Amino acid sequence: MSITFVPTPAVPPVDASVDHAIQDIVAGTSTDATCATDLAAGPWDFDTRPGYGPGSSMGDVIPTGSPRQGELPAAYREASEEELDERVRAAKATLGDRVVILGHFYQREEVVRHADYVGDSFQLATAAKGRPDAEAIVFCGVHFMAETADLLSGPEQAVILPNLAAGCSMADMADIDQVEDCWEQLAEVLGDLDAEDADGRVPVIPVTYMNSSAAIKGFVGRHGGIVCTSSNAQTVLEWAFARGRRVLFFPDQHLGRNTAKAMGVPLEQMPMWNPRRPLGGSTAEELHDSRVILWHGFCSVHRRFTVGQIDQARAEHPGVRVIVHPECPMEVVDAADEAGSTDYIRRAIDAATEPTAFAIGTEINLVRRLAAQYPQHEIFCLDPVVCPCSTMYRIHPGYLAWVLEELVAGRTPNRITVSADVADPARIALERMLAAKPPVPVGA
Ligand code: SF4
Repeated sequence: MSITFVPTPAVPPVDASVDHAIQDIVAGTSTDATCATDLAAGPWDFDTRPGYGPGSSMGDVIPTGSPRQGELPAAYREASEEELDERVRAAKATLGDRVVILGHFYQREEVVRHADYVGDSFQLATAAKGRPDAEAIVFCGVHFMAETADLLSGPEQAVILPNLAAGCSMADMADIDQVEDCWEQLAEVLGDLDAEDADGRVPVIPVTYMNSSAAIKGFVGRHGGIVCTSSNAQTVLEWAFARGRRVLFFPDQHLGRNTAKAMGVPLEQMPMWNPRRPLGGSTAEELHDSRVILWHGFCSVHRRFTVGQIDQARAEHPGVRVIVHPECPMEVVDAADEAGSTDYIRRAIDAATEPTAFAIGTEINLVRRLAAQYPQHEIFCLDPVVCPCSTMYRIHPGYLAWVLEELVAGRTPNRITVSADVADPARIALERMLAAKPPVPVGA
């Protein structure tokens, strides 16, 4: 799998910063709109409130007991963007090869510019494996990503999440207790879940999206299941159908539905499992007849995209190429020209030889960065409102400066550790995914 090395251009061709766009909107110097003007406040403001904070996930319910970040010292909260930038650079230079900084595609520009690697969650966790010399891996993403990096890194390496409150609202929609309960109910309906039929297939194979907690990955590993990414979901479902009569897919219903539909599974054989209802809200007959049982989870960023936005993009930009992420609802994926992972989107734009208009259905930070990197194309977000992933947005540069300076001082803040009883089966589920087949390349 390829990893994107981040060049740091002395003068970026276009300001890709979503922060700057939001500040302009708040100051009244831009005609754009944002989904929440309090995005302009630092995350230390909304870290203290219940919920995920302003942005795409603000309406989602944050689970009880989610980690909270202690208050960041005033020196970081009150520092200017330029001062924080300088402090990050200085601390990183002092630490040298002792630290590696990973930046997710959806991360804000002020943080990503300091990353040694930029990519999706699995690319970044894999990148960390290539730096066994680094004592600390600073993961500028969200909680489940740091857990995955801990699973794949060496035992002596410390994986650090700069803001502990940077969770993922989708990953939090499937907790381990709900999944265990679902499994028990399925056993009551489908019988012994370990019993193989004449074809050697068990009643159900659990498949979890990478965007899930380590506990869920461990559950999947213990029950003969597998992990998937948005790049390889079809390959993984083929693997699962070879071993089971049906699949339990979580937490993202949209990725599961879009992938299975493309493989020819009828919608009526994809009942939903709502963990707050008996039998997930389905009948025993529907579960018996199912091929894919879809967990009632979604990404609030990708749920914002609509067919109306695609129609508008086509009306205003004749010939536009519409590419959306498979976490978008089915009708949006069906209406788009193409659907693919963040890496697919990046590669598709990179491969375009003629100036092209691209309307992209994924997180705004990635879209603006692509627009800055490929000025020969017209690249814009389908969503007309500036609305970043609110949980990723919690990694303000103030937190990055803080964790790096703590490392310089010999302390290791915000370490994310997965216990061995969870890590061992979770690694098995990840290894099954790697053995299934490499991710599907662009155009395949
Ligand atoms: S974009 Fe969606 S899936 Fe990704 S971290 Fe944000 S909430 Fe989670």
